[in-house]
Amino acid sequence: MQLNPVDLQTGAPVELQDITEKVRQSVAASGVTEGLCYVFSPHTTAGLTINENADPDVKRDIVYALDRMVPKRDPNYRHAEGNSAAHVKASMMGFHAIVPISGGRLILGTWQGIYFCEFDGPRRRQVIVTVVPVTGQEG
Ligand code: ZN
Repeated sequence: MQLNPVDLQTGAPVELQDITEKVRQSVAASGVTEGLCYVFSPHTTAGLTINENADPDVKRDIVYALDRMVPKRDPNYRHAEGNSAAHVKASMMGFHAIVPISGGRLILGTWQGIYFCEFDGPRRRQVIVTVVPVTGQEG
């Protein structure tokens, strides 16, 4: 098992950043050909998701829909830091993505990309890519 931290810089308060290529590079560097790629976000105001990488309007619409569901300001929020919306959205997206690896390649759908979901940026961030080899069992 190999742990690879991948550094990111987000550029906006809210941003879905395509990290697929960086994850691919970690998988290639691992040398693992059959296994699982586990991507983990060690942050409380940023998440991970897998979604469409073709039409950029999909990213925009995800951000729009999350903003509608989770208001930025609400008089009933209690968290003193003032970024409760970011915490809630991060939990809605979740903190990991898992993609199978076969033939040394990430097995993503044609239109899928891996997105780091920034909700309290811009910031320096990091994801941890863990490449887990899966070996076949004989007999
Ligand atoms: Zn906070």
